[in-house]
Amino acid sequence: MDIGARPRITVVGAGMAGSDAALAAARLGVAVDLYEMRPTRTTPAHVSDRFAEMVCSNSLGGESETNAKGLLQAEMRAAGGAIVEAADGARVPAGGALAVDRERMATAVTERVHADPNVTVHREELTRIPDGVVVLATGPLTSDAFADAIRERVGDDFLGFYDAAAPIVEADSIDRSVAFRAGRYGQAADYLNLPLSKADYDRFYELVANARKHVPHDWEKLEFFEGCMPIEELARRGYDTPRFGPMKPVGLHHPETGERFFAVVQLRQEDAAARMWSLVGFQTGLKWGDQKEVVRALPGLHDAEIVRYGVMHRNTYLNAPRLLEPTLALRAHPDLFVAGVLAGTEGYLESSATGWLAGRNAALRALGRPTVVPPEATMLGGLVRFLSGANPDGFQPMNANWGLVPNAPKKDPESGRRMGKRDRRAWMYRQGYAAWGAWLAEGDWPAREGRPEAIVRAETADAADFAAATD
Ligand SMILES: Cc1cc2nc3c(=O)[nH]c(=O)nc-3n(C[C@H](O)[C@H](O)[C@H](O)COP(=O)(O)OP(=O)(O)OC[C@H]3O[C@@H](n4cnc5c(N)ncnc54)[C@H](O)[C@@H]3O)c2cc1C
Repeated sequence: MDIGARPRITVVGAGMAGSDAALAAARLGVAVDLYEMRPTRTTPAHVSDRFAEMVCSNSLGGESETNAKGLLQAEMRAAGGAIVEAADGARVPAGGALAVDRERMATAVTERVHADPNVTVHREELTRIPDGVVVLATGPLTSDAFADAIRERVGDDFLGFYDAAAPIVEADSIDRSVAFRAGRYGQAADYLNLPLSKADYDRFYELVANARKHVPHDWEKLEFFEGCMPIEELARRGYDTPRFGPMKPVGLHHPETGERFFAVVQLRQEDAAARMWSLVGFQTGLKWGDQKEVVRALPGLHDAEIVRYGVMHRNTYLNAPRLLEPTLALRAHPDLFVAGVLAGTEGYLESSATGWLAGRNAALRALGRPTVVPPEATMLGGLVRFLSGANPDGFQPMNANWGLVPNAPKKDPESGRRMGKRDRRAWMYRQGYAAWGAWLAEGDWPAREGRPEAIVRAETADAADFAAATD
């Protein structure tokens, strides 16, 4: 068939999300115009003209069956996702993590895109949103002119420019004998509150003051709004600054004892199921190891599982819960799909996975077929449900984590045996992967043969992840 007569879509940006989007759409037989502005115009972080270039770490995260990124990798592997396939071919040893030779990976993705007869590559910056069915995948460093075009389409208030994110912790890991529910000045008890004595505060202050900080690239140096100051910067300004700011205890007392405190940290619910809670006002760029120590020094968080660390780097992203369907289409503009960081995800792998779904859905729309959403037990299904259904106030980008999928039961339903944390995660992994395979088959999407053989059941996966994530 003549390519000109076929249903057509446009993908803007050939990074992690755009490359997977273009190839997923092409696989459904749709003609794809893929626009990438590099090398004609580059970003402050990219250094080559290749697609899917990793701008910082070379890791796609841990791949064991107790790791949430491991499940997302397996899902993408089964679906034939371009980034994960290229990563598998460009592996370097990294314990339990999928780390790659970044040049080999980017070259493999670029060659695969160029070799696809359904994809036409245009090396050009787009400054307006094209007509027809489009996937927007221009990433955290979207060019200014295109960011203006997006803002014009979605509304001024919905496009964020900096990601000053606070850590998010798993609900099950919060000590409820310490954290108490209350609202300030007797308002609705929507928050969990962590009470700090002077001794607790002194310890916290000391840790923050000595913690190692992320040093931003010059171009990344942020002009902080007063209301969006990282906690370490507040602490640098003086001993009392955090407790006169986000840690202020005024208007709060313990609902049962009436006790008041030297300082308080509030936790805000992040998702509808209350599986994830963020530390209010705790945006931070502390190195992850030190960040974990600071968070775990807070009363009630001594065993906290951090599902998303705080980060400070330049990002361009939409307020997804206000704008997006779980299909990744804009609610108000059903021909426009959004993927990657722009859609409110964080991470190479998450960007690639949302790219794959946005590309597939854009193609389905162009073909006049219904768009699809993966089941809730899958990591991608959990992620896109979060993006469209999270708390929109102070929305922050999200990465793959176990809080996104339904929790495992405490006991194995078959054996009745009590399951520890690892067993429960492995259970969620198996449920998610089975649901994913069934969903691909039902949607007529040819899953790759076999089980995710590349899974390494590394006992040390968490340590390897951490090393990969902080390098
Ligand atoms: C400084 C920095 C460091 C990061 N470090 C990590 C990390 O270590 N690990 C991790 O998992 N994630 C990291 N991220 C977050 C994020 O996961 C990656 O940036 C990821 O590459 C995002 O994928 P994407 O497809 O959304 O964007 P990108 O991969 O950046 O792709 C977007 C593409 O769109 C192109 N483009 C932009 N505007 C236009 C336009 N107008 N017309 C045509 N093309 C355009 C760009 O040139 C680019 O190729 C980092 C982000 C930043 C900003």
